[in-house]
Amino acid sequence: MVPSARFTDGQSRPIRNIYCVGRNYINHAHELNNPVPEEPLLFMKSTASVATGNRILLPESATIHHELELVCFIGREIPEPGQEIAAAIQGYTLGLDLTDRPLQQKMKDAGKPWFRAKSFRNSTILGDFIPADEFNLDEPFFLRKNGQQVQSGAVGDMIFPIEVVLQSLAERLPLGPGDILFTGTPAGVGPLQSGDVIEIGPRPAYSITIL
Ligand code: ZN
Repeated sequence: MVPSARFTDGQSRPIRNIYCVGRNYINHAHELNNPVPEEPLLFMKSTASVATGNRILLPESATIHHELELVCFIGREIPEPGQEIAAAIQGYTLGLDLTDRPLQQKMKDAGKPWFRAKSFRNSTILGDFIPADEFNLDEPFFLRKNGQQVQSGAVGDMIFPIEVVLQSLAERLPLGPGDILFTGTPAGVGPLQSGDVIEIGPRPAYSITIL
């Protein structure tokens, strides 16, 4: 089944590709002892990894980290890089790029793709998308774990602004309706445990429970 993005206007739109950018905040690159990239570090997650509902079952015997990210939804065709990219963003939400951190480290050390560390059941969590013209990009966003704020981010702290990342993608591939982009995580990533309650906000505000 093709997963869909829910919008606050009540519409649902199919998700076509899930693009992500890694190490897009200096403080997060440093916390994992990674170099700060000189160009956007792009990767993908499987659309089969999108969670439905807010009670989340994670793989057993794995250490899964939360990565809070601003996510944008592309609403129209971008056949090649150009001026129109900002206007093609139809909505924004806050999401989680869940990551099997020990497996990612193992794959990194071996020079192998991160795929298995990033794509597993329920590893992509999305709030409802807010139409772009109603979303305040200047407002910082946060993640609270069991009542305590552990991550906060702001668009101004990104190494590569959203449009630059989209241009970089568009140089290699046509973008189009249903493509979404996870724009990177700020510092404060950490492990999830059964029973954790994660609150995300301020807009959209929602919570998930780890089963
Ligand atoms: Zn991420």
